[in-house]
Amino acid sequence: MEVVAGLDLVTVVLLFFWVVYLWENYLSFRQREVYKTTKDIPWELRSVLEHETFEKARLYQLDKNGFSFWAGLYSQLEMTVILLLGGIPFLWRVSGDITGYFGYGPEFEILQSVTFVLLGTVFSTVTGLPWGLYSTFVIEDRHGFNKQTLGFYFKDLAKKFVVTQLISLPVAAGLLYIIKAGGDYFFIYAWLFTFVVTMGLIFIYADYIAPLFDRFTPLPDGDLRSQIETLAASIDFPLYKIFVVEGSKRSSHSNAYFFGFYKNKRIVLFDTLLEENPVNKEASAGEAAGEGSSEDSSDTASEPEQKGEGDAKEGGEKKKKIGCSNEEILAVLGHELGHWKLGHNLKNIIISQVNTFLCFFLFALLSNWKELYAAFGFPDSQPALIGLLIIFQFIFSPYNELLSFLMTVLSRRFEFQADTFALGLNKGADLCTALIKLNKDNLGFPVHDWLYAAWHYSHPGLLERLRALDYKQKEQ
Ligand code: ZN
Repeated sequence: MEVVAGLDLVTVVLLFFWVVYLWENYLSFRQREVYKTTKDIPWELRSVLEHETFEKARLYQLDKNGFSFWAGLYSQLEMTVILLLGGIPFLWRVSGDITGYFGYGPEFEILQSVTFVLLGTVFSTVTGLPWGLYSTFVIEDRHGFNKQTLGFYFKDLAKKFVVTQLISLPVAAGLLYIIKAGGDYFFIYAWLFTFVVTMGLIFIYADYIAPLFDRFTPLPDGDLRSQIETLAASIDFPLYKIFVVEGSKRSSHSNAYFFGFYKNKRIVLFDTLLEENPVNKEASAGEAAGEGSSEDSSDTASEPEQKGEGDAKEGGEKKKKIGCSNEEILAVLGHELGHWKLGHNLKNIIISQVNTFLCFFLFALLSNWKELYAAFGFPDSQPALIGLLIIFQFIFSPYNELLSFLMTVLSRRFEFQADTFALGLNKGADLCTALIKLNKDNLGFPVHDWLYAAWHYSHPGLLERLRALDYKQKEQ
């Protein structure tokens, strides 16, 4: 291992990042060709998809594809420059200068590390800002999805920044303390610590964090509510409460999710999902998070998380959109309950915990390797935080890529299984029409390059799902 000299290791890491970057650009290029050349609606969808919507979706996706090319190029160059010019040791020195100014010398490593994390987040927030603004106020806006004002955007960003720091800085400090004081078996304690923190965050997210950003109101009594309760009861889903969240204040992209531990599960529907909701202008739907992460993207596979404020634009195009019928909402929920019933979220948590443990174990093996620190510009000291950064971000990157690909493949399997579950509840036909509506309203493009989809799509494409649900046969 000593053979690896200073610059060489950085070069190897950079080479790997560039190979991944070029590979993903190649995939993007393939997908772009699909957007450019597919002018005909797939036959399965001809009776349900208007040419105008199809063309709109095509242009929207082309636009997004172009944007991600430039955003990706920028972040690739930024990372290369940071690595080549020693941006990490520079930021570490600056952090040390700041804590030193307040009378805390290099022996206060955790304090310096926390300052480093804070400065790093400030840096990435600032450099990410133009991209975020452009994406929201130019791209999304141009296609009628943006609902927020600049004021809301900045307020939201500031809130998110503060909340993230309040959580991540103490967690980072705690973790570093464990690594430094934990002795030979620190990796076990470090893993336990992250496990407890993760579970704690899932636990408090719904009640204390999510409401800081959005308003949750209980779903009023009515047909929909009793139908959902009946559905939940029929498969022993421990439903505790049903909420409606004002998604339409952020964006007209659709979403929905589940959360909660054990007997305490809540369903959250975006108001954009509901036909009757007064605020509602368009359809939407989503994805469950069972005991897992509290937020998940919509089932239509390709839309970004977007934010919006209530200066709703009354574009004629949006007025046409209508929410899903109660039957369709129930079918979407049937799919989500499938994720719960089949233990998908639990499986994901287990995989992620095993992975975290493995990473901490490998970190323990590598973290005393001085040449590693020297290679990244730390010849004289081996701060634990820098070790975490180098090993988790750079050394593990091939493993991270592989794992992320396998998780994407697994996720698609889970989606098919959840669809099959909904089919078993006799909701196949409603799920099909719901999926088509959601795809339309999110301007999802129903055609894709197979290799691009295999690499990127956590959800199978619309056509694959319709085929698996035997759409034509069920249609009439
Ligand atoms: Zn799903």
